[in-house]
Amino acid sequence: MLDIALKLLSELTRRSYKAYIVGGFVRDHILGIESNDIDITTNATPKEIKEIFEDSCLPNEDYGSVTVMMKGVRFEITTFRKEIEYLNNRKPVEIKYIDDLMPDLLRRDFTINTLCMDSEGNILDFLEGRKDIDNKIINTVGDAKDKFTEDSLRILRAIRFATILDFKLSDEVKRAISDTKYLLKNLSYYRKKSELEKIFISPNKHKGIELLLEFGLDKELELPKLKELNETNTTSLIGIWSLLNVTDKYPFNRNELDLIKNINRVMELNNMDPYTLFKYGLYVNSVAGEIKGMDIKKITESYADLVIKSSSDIDIDSNTIMDILHKKPGKYLKDIYDDLENKILYRKLKNDNKAICNYILENYK
Ligand code: ATP
Ligand code: MG
Repeated sequence: MLDIALKLLSELTRRSYKAYIVGGFVRDHILGIESNDIDITTNATPKEIKEIFEDSCLPNEDYGSVTVMMKGVRFEITTFRKEIEYLNNRKPVEIKYIDDLMPDLLRRDFTINTLCMDSEGNILDFLEGRKDIDNKIINTVGDAKDKFTEDSLRILRAIRFATILDFKLSDEVKRAISDTKYLLKNLSYYRKKSELEKIFISPNKHKGIELLLEFGLDKELELPKLKELNETNTTSLIGIWSLLNVTDKYPFNRNELDLIKNINRVMELNNMDPYTLFKYGLYVNSVAGEIKGMDIKKITESYADLVIKSSSDIDIDSNTIMDILHKKPGKYLKDIYDDLENKILYRKLKNDNKAICNYILENYK
């Protein structure tokens, strides 16, 4: 991975461009954390990058970053830039490509994200990022309040890095969060959600939740149930969103909405009940069970013990039912199926074709 990245850098430097790996990969490399996301920064413009690398695409012209595939690895190459003036504290109004690395590093969020690696693997540290990594502390590049005012997503990024790396926030960063947290309301729910998810999926998520609560960000982010999340050990992201119950504000796709609705329903029900297990399935029941602090193994065993897992497991088909009742298709079939599911699940009727036929004749003729 790193060797491919260094080769990519050489492709640029041998054409007299400046090029470095920057940000998260270098930070994680120093910390001994494996990372497959490599960001590269260079003075070559997107057009020039495209000319050098055949397998490249410009995903977003405005943003000016080029994605290059090399030996099956994806790299994000971004031209040195200065961001001029932020709109509504979240989006730079204008981006200016520049020839120097330094201003590009100064526009970045945290010192720990400004370390660079050159094509020979040397680490360049212009803004004391190494010291902050060694001291496990999150400091902004320059004034914290200015950084958070420019882009309030950085508040959540600070908490995300403190969480996943188990770092401290500097006192200045803490003060700046308190001073600027009201700006989070200007941020799209989409961006808030994706940053929050990075906190929630961390094995160290409780630290992140504590920090969010400490700064009162549960209010700014409109997550009134965040405190409750701290009381569970739920690892499932969809379970976490079900608990937080914010589908009226945050964006979710159809499938997620269905899952959240069902998980919330099952949370009110008894998970060991055969009908609940049958109707909502193992996944929804396990997620709801985990939130409730139940033993997932027991839920899995109860599910495995179900006589039928779906109505197609019932040992009869609708043609047979119509035949024995001498009836045409109709709504009555569904009523019969509902009744059969119930009787079979609660073991009041054997799942056996003959027994079922007799039962139908006795009760529905
Ligand atoms: P990871 O990839 O592990 O999530 P990262 O630090 O690489 O972490 P990215 O979102 O990939 O984060 O961004 C790459 C680099 O771009 C960062 O290291 C940082 O230098 C800079 N950066 C990203 N987002 C911002 C931002 N909102 N404000 C300022 N600089 C940013
Ligand atoms: Mg990255």
